[in-house]
Amino acid sequence: MKKRMSLNTQILLGVLAGILLGAGISGLGRDSSLAENGLYAAGLIGTLFIDLLKMVLVPLVFTSIAVGVANLRAHQQMHRVWQATLGFFVFSMALAAMLGLAAANLFQPGKGLPLAMFQDAMQGFEARQMSLPDFFAQFLHSLFQNPVTALAQGDILAVVVFALLLGIALVVGGQRYANIVVLLQECLELVLMLVGWIMRLAPLGIMALLLQLTATQDIHLLAVLMEFILVVVGTTLLHGVVLLPLILYLATGMSPLRFWRGAREALITAFATSSSSATLPVTLRCAEQHLHVRRDVAGFVVPLGATLNMDGTALYEAAAALFVANLAGIELDPVQQMVVFVTAMLGAMGAPGIPSAGMVTMALVLQAVGLPVEAIAILLPIDRLLDAFRTAVNVEGDMVGGLVVQAWIGEPRS
Ligand code: ASP
Repeated sequence: MKKRMSLNTQILLGVLAGILLGAGISGLGRDSSLAENGLYAAGLIGTLFIDLLKMVLVPLVFTSIAVGVANLRAHQQMHRVWQATLGFFVFSMALAAMLGLAAANLFQPGKGLPLAMFQDAMQGFEARQMSLPDFFAQFLHSLFQNPVTALAQGDILAVVVFALLLGIALVVGGQRYANIVVLLQECLELVLMLVGWIMRLAPLGIMALLLQLTATQDIHLLAVLMEFILVVVGTTLLHGVVLLPLILYLATGMSPLRFWRGAREALITAFATSSSSATLPVTLRCAEQHLHVRRDVAGFVVPLGATLNMDGTALYEAAAALFVANLAGIELDPVQQMVVFVTAMLGAMGAPGIPSAGMVTMALVLQAVGLPVEAIAILLPIDRLLDAFRTAVNVEGDMVGGLVVQAWIGEPRS
């Protein structure tokens, strides 16, 4: 019998086919009926793949966090995991934001481009005002929601918080609730089985999403903003390909190649979907099954990371703020750059893991240093491309976080 191609190979072929077909369609011109039909079909398949991932997302997050927390508490490791996780998130995001600032200072993208060139786009754009206190209040409010509403609306951060508390209560309750822990564990296994089935469609879904991404880029705008794009993509890759693997190697001794082999399903899915949340089922699967992060650690670090830990977004928000300052001909002094640094991190933490979420919280960064919020209109048309890179690095950070935290807390005492 012929041996079946591995899922990884199929996914890589999907990536290749998607990019080539997308370039072909873009060459045909979007008016041709072949291109139109191709894009329509790709839209259907791509959306279906994302819908399937989202279908399992909420039950998966809920059960993996509740079970993870219950097991961690049972092993009395909750404190250390908490501290290590938050410590890692803040450290890696600070590094990313600093890198974004440094690169933007070094290369000065946008200098010399007149802001007036984008006047039309900016005028038609209604910017959302977001002050720091408002942002903070909104963030706090989003943490504690009616769990039924949060589950129904797929409000991941609120689901995470509720599952966390429930996990703690399950352990505090002790033997009396042992059955519920077992039930949740079984549910988690079941959902993971569904994730395995959905992943069989990944090559096709990823091909469709990348086809759309390649075919729908505005080449003219990309050329005008090329310098900025190169700075952002270059630094994002530097963070993802050099710094994060280096941290991983130093903390755990794992080689970057081994990490890449285990993580690539999730990295490619993140690139194609531009959504850390939609990718979360795949991220968890990679962390547990391929990278061998203990289930209780992965079940805690990875879902929390998908909403809070966003290195790529922090880097982007910092670099983009300086880009807008350059366009507007405003020089930001060191104190203002510090404000950009802090707000970029807050903006990244507050951004949900959905496409272009970073663009919304970007308003916070621009406003904090008095830059024109309407400038977001310039960045939006090129965001689909940049979002792909930063989401992949966001998701990478979550898996690295799981491995680093596991190494820091040491093996469980059983
Ligand atoms: N799309 C990103 C993510 O899901 C968030 C962002 O827009 O930066 O991780």
